[in-house]
Amino acid sequence: ITAIRVKNFSFYYDNQKIIEDVSMEIPQNKITAIIGPSGCGKSTFLKSLNRMNELEGEVKVEGKVEFFGQNIYGRRVNLNRLRRQISTIYARPNLFPMSIYDNVAYGVKLIGWHPKVELDEIVELALKAADIWEEVKNKLYKSALELSFGQQQRLCIARALAVKPQVILMDELCVGLDPIATMKIEELIECLRSELTIVFVSHNIQQVSRLSDFTALFHYNENRIGQLLEFAPTKK
Ligand code: ADP
Ligand code: ADP
Repeated sequence: ITAIRVKNFSFYYDNQKIIEDVSMEIPQNKITAIIGPSGCGKSTFLKSLNRMNELEGEVKVEGKVEFFGQNIYGRRVNLNRLRRQISTIYARPNLFPMSIYDNVAYGVKLIGWHPKVELDEIVELALKAADIWEEVKNKLYKSALELSFGQQQRLCIARALAVKPQVILMDELCVGLDPIATMKIEELIECLRSELTIVFVSHNIQQVSRLSDFTALFHYNENRIGQLLEFAPTKK
């Protein structure tokens, strides 16, 4: 089953073409890695899958991106809903200056009111799913910013999981993490793989080979416009 179908998709920032004529089918509950040289539009492409790039500048698109058949660039799309269903996790942890608990509960509270006991449970389950519960269960009301970099990154994953996304987009998730923190994140991704569609950008070819089912290889052409060169099962 295809979760996201990209069809003849071109993308412009400020009328400058960044990505040209990309077509691919991102399979549901699989892990797809995006690789390619620096500046070829990997990040831009990732952000175009849930329209996060509109926060960055004037954008224009051609072609289509369909999420389970719905054109995400259509007129009637609810952007908040789209970004809950397709959630982004950034290279650098971007937690709010709030407690660990409030960070995880944040998105859930935006969607609707829950009694405290229910919210407690959602937070606990998300922290467990992100494999950080044991490390934070005794300090849920301490500031999230006191955690280590690797823990903050797992907390970002917990925050995203709490709103039950169907797709998670990850941009260079392990940049600046030490090998143990990186291993923890990779193990976490392994655990999530059967229930979630994950698309991640990486420069680490071993990581791509370890984690991904499919690889989308981008390059840029002679006009420095990003193009998809190949989409294929990851070589193991
Ligand atoms: P990659 O992730 O492959 O390194 P990016 O998607 O970050 O590539 O960048 C691709 C191109 O898009 C670069 O030339 C970059 O300068 C340009 N670009 C990225 N973000 C913006 C933006 N917000 N406004 C204008 N141009 C941008
Ligand atoms: P920032 O503006 O600080 O970069 P983001 O917009 O990236 O924050 O959101 C951070 C996290 O908060 C995301 O992972 C997302 O799951 C959650 N989030 C953001 N906006 C909403 C929303 N409207 N509804 C639910 N969750 C949201």
